Amino acid sequence: MQAFYADHFVLPLPSGHRFPMQKYRLLRDRLLAELPQVQLLEAPRASDGELALAHAPAYVEAIQNGTLEPAHQREIGFPWSPAMAERSRRSVGATVAACRAAWRDGVAANLAGGTHHASADRGGGFCVFNDLAVAARLMQAEAFRTQRRALKVLIVDLDVHQGNGTASIFARDDSVFTLSLHGEKNFPFRKVPGDLDVDLPDGCTDDAYLHALELALEAVEQRFAPDFVLYLAGADPHEGDRLGRLKLSDDGLEARDRRVLDWAWQRGLPLAFAMGGGYGHDLSSTVRVQFNTYRVAADYHARWQARLAARVA
Ligand SMILES: [Zn+2]
Repeated sequence: MQAFYADHFVLPLPSGHRFPMQKYRLLRDRLLAELPQVQLLEAPRASDGELALAHAPAYVEAIQNGTLEPAHQREIGFPWSPAMAERSRRSVGATVAACRAAWRDGVAANLAGGTHHASADRGGGFCVFNDLAVAARLMQAEAFRTQRRALKVLIVDLDVHQGNGTASIFARDDSVFTLSLHGEKNFPFRKVPGDLDVDLPDGCTDDAYLHALELALEAVEQRFAPDFVLYLAGADPHEGDRLGRLKLSDDGLEARDRRVLDWAWQRGLPLAFAMGGGYGHDLSSTVRVQFNTYRVAADYHARWQARLAARVA
């Protein structure tokens, strides 16, 4: 299974900054050591043209040159630097590459990404560009160019925070369905309605969460027939998260991942996933949850290879 990383493009943060940047490197080290079926590849950088599929050119330029208004830069939560601009492009490139790999192989991943708070002309909540939106639009463009096919994309956003940026970008776009399950009382406090939003109460546990997910997938089934799935597997619904406010266990999150991967697999839908948030009191719990997502995904990738081989035979 291919997975794309960009953590070696270091985003410099002031000491004591609350974003746990090390988690990406820790996850990559653990995958390298314990899951050899995951092939780790350097993320390409997203071009201006690719970013323009979901972002205003003036915003892309302001990020590139460091000329964003200070208030807007503060909303992102990272100080500007040339490295921040580069890292942000690479993170989008990683999701694009993962989507192309999933289109061929069934399942693939970005070791970072899932920057769902970024809208067309504004960042926020540690998100600069919206990798999911750019990748969805690029996959649509490529399917149309090569197969004259109007690709429908489902975005399953299970980060604990609502995918407000993604919802705003696709607000008037019927070809992309945005599903978000998130903490009702959590950031962003003004949510942007997506195609299907499920508000969860503080303290929500495994059973209630998995039941809500089941109902949501049934509802999607009634309303939308996707050709491709983008999955945002946030680790922040975990009980050990500093920001999440929900109480999912390791097993609950693994069951969540398995349900989404299985749902796509049963329908023959290629799936690419990105990591999204994860702010464990103990960072090792975040890395463990994300590593588990890879174990589940590698399992479905192996099933896909058997399926693809049988098609060729
Ligand atoms: Zn989050």
